[in-house]
Amino acid sequence: MAQMMGQALNCLRCQQPLESRGVLQFRVGGATGLGGMLLGSLNQLGETRLPLEVRVCPGCGHVELFRA
Ligand SMILES: [Zn+2]
Repeated sequence: MAQMMGQALNCLRCQQPLESRGVLQFRVGGATGLGGMLLGSLNQLGETRLPLEVRVCPGCGHVELFRA
């Protein structure tokens, strides 16, 4: 419970500080996979966007996602 926003987060593997690479808007919901690709723009009606912050470890390349 002690880890909150603004605090440095370390890699689970090598304990190096993770570098933030910004926030990506992940699309969730709606149709997924090949069907969703074929539906194209129509598929966007049923989906929502989930902002996730991407943090990358400079040491081993481990990536973690955090809800932004
Ligand atoms: Zn690492």
